[in-house]
Amino acid sequence: MTLKVGRIEKVSGPLVVAEGMDEANIYDVCKVGDKGLIGEIIEMRGDRASIQVYEETSGIGPGDPVVTTGEPLSVELGPGLLEAIFDGIQRPLDKFLQVSGSNFLVKGISVEPLDRDKRWEFVPSVSEGEAVSAGDVIGTVQETAVIVHKIMIPFGISGTVKSIKAGDFTVKDPIAVISTASGDKEILMMQKWPVRKGRPIHKKLNPIEPMITGQRVIDTFFPVAKGGAAAVPGPFGAGKTVVQHQIAKWGDAEIVVYVGCGERGNEMTDVLNEFPELIDPNTGKSIMNRTVLIANTSNMPVAAREASIYTGITIAEYYRDMGYSVAIMADSTSRWAEALREMSGRLEEMPGDEGYPAYLGSRLAEYYERAGKVVCLGKDERIGTITAIGAVSPAGGDVSEPVTQSTLRIVKVYWGLDAQLAYRRHFPSINWLSSYSLYADRIGNYLDEVVKGNWSNLRTRAMAILQEEANLEEIVRLVGIDALSEKDRLTLEVAKSIREDYLQQNAFHEIDAYSSLNKQFIMMQIILAFQDEAQRALKAGVYLDKILKLPVREKIARSKYISEDEINKISDIKNQLVSEIDKLIEEGGIM
Ligand code: ADP
Ligand code: MG
Repeated sequence: MTLKVGRIEKVSGPLVVAEGMDEANIYDVCKVGDKGLIGEIIEMRGDRASIQVYEETSGIGPGDPVVTTGEPLSVELGPGLLEAIFDGIQRPLDKFLQVSGSNFLVKGISVEPLDRDKRWEFVPSVSEGEAVSAGDVIGTVQETAVIVHKIMIPFGISGTVKSIKAGDFTVKDPIAVISTASGDKEILMMQKWPVRKGRPIHKKLNPIEPMITGQRVIDTFFPVAKGGAAAVPGPFGAGKTVVQHQIAKWGDAEIVVYVGCGERGNEMTDVLNEFPELIDPNTGKSIMNRTVLIANTSNMPVAAREASIYTGITIAEYYRDMGYSVAIMADSTSRWAEALREMSGRLEEMPGDEGYPAYLGSRLAEYYERAGKVVCLGKDERIGTITAIGAVSPAGGDVSEPVTQSTLRIVKVYWGLDAQLAYRRHFPSINWLSSYSLYADRIGNYLDEVVKGNWSNLRTRAMAILQEEANLEEIVRLVGIDALSEKDRLTLEVAKSIREDYLQQNAFHEIDAYSSLNKQFIMMQIILAFQDEAQRALKAGVYLDKILKLPVREKIARSKYISEDEINKISDIKNQLVSEIDKLIEEGGIM
């Protein structure tokens, strides 16, 4: 079918208006200009199409041709996604570099997202004559050392397996034929899916299991469920990117999709240099084995940034459909929203709050609602999850702005990064008083059952101490430290220990970067044991100043640097604590 050629009427940055487009539909992908720049129709009025163009539009102008492909913006799904790095519309950046030579992005070059030459060993798991329908797994490919890629029947196909073969195939080779009511259908290892549409599922479930991040302040106080959504708002330099990198590195999701969205290019370069070197504590292999990177940094075209988060979440859904737990990070959704605002402005839409379009909130919701815990389509019961974590960068850290507010209406976890804490080098700078997790209670119960009996009690007690600290500090401000009892002063000391010895966690320290749940539990136990023991001594008449000088305190402070293998050494600290306190009591606490 040859499609009618439209003509460019005007070019306004990334927005192109073309007339004579009566055969096109909204959301069609178009080829714009002689070079065939890739664009997507975002508004249709009569035969005039407004097209957001994903490449630099310099050099195209009125009268140039525009043709629609008649297809929505889609991604290719199949073996080869893992370890890849794509741009916002899934062009493989590494291949792009090879084809285009020097420049990062050269206009109009089209490179297939998935490698067409690479052969993958396909192992069938169904036999001829078997009935199959959408979502059923018909075989597997070992995609990386740690991930088995499941080849599923695409949506819209059901019937019986007419033929299926084992062997080495490319993503374009047919590996099976299904007899359906409307004739035989060839199945490839690759399928396509439109990015703006969620992939179908069987049903949604309630998320209750935590995604373990190894970050103490998150896992202990503000956990996110596998299948939940979290926002990380914070001003420039507060640590948003580090938090997201830490979760990408250490989180116990089986698959990670990392979307670098509108932030500086060198941060993505850091990721590219650093991630391949890192070993996943859960598998013992390089974390790239389970990672897909999507980069649309600030130096790349703004419209592709708008698409990048949908490209990312569609890939996430595809692995979820295989039954994996997937985590997707977007850094930063504010830069994404700015792209949305820019396009809306050029469309001359009525601006809402701070110039953002009125549909900002619903677009954000459309993204985050694709997170969740689901029963996947297909006959073997598979449960998959997508956990979505979005950085938000409000100007000046003012969280009352529209992107933060719209996000908070959707997500259930808020890790509020605090400029003051970051300034004092308290990292991660997650403010323990303003942050929250609506999953905390449910996950607390889960951890009590699975990990340790009284985890949630310890957690509640520690949080109460931090809240009491805030109250006591208020009193100190008004009437001075002398107004406090020794017990209250002890509370302040224990709160300080929770903050400095527990919540502060150095992302760049070999051991401290990651704490298992077990280590977190043991560390918290020893900090609170100090409070108990110190109270025992206070009751026996020992002066607080003497208790605070005990050598064991230094050991408690350094417990974060004890490696996971030697974590039981902390019980030696407990013994030392008890004997030092006993000794003080024996001495009668005299100064
Ligand atoms: P943002 O993305 O919010 O602008 P970054 O994540 O780039 O901020 O963090 C800024 C700097 O803060 C980092 O380069 C690092 O020096 C420091 N930092 C942030 N989090 C941590 C952490 N957990 N441990 C140590 N340093 C940190
Ligand atoms: Mg950042």
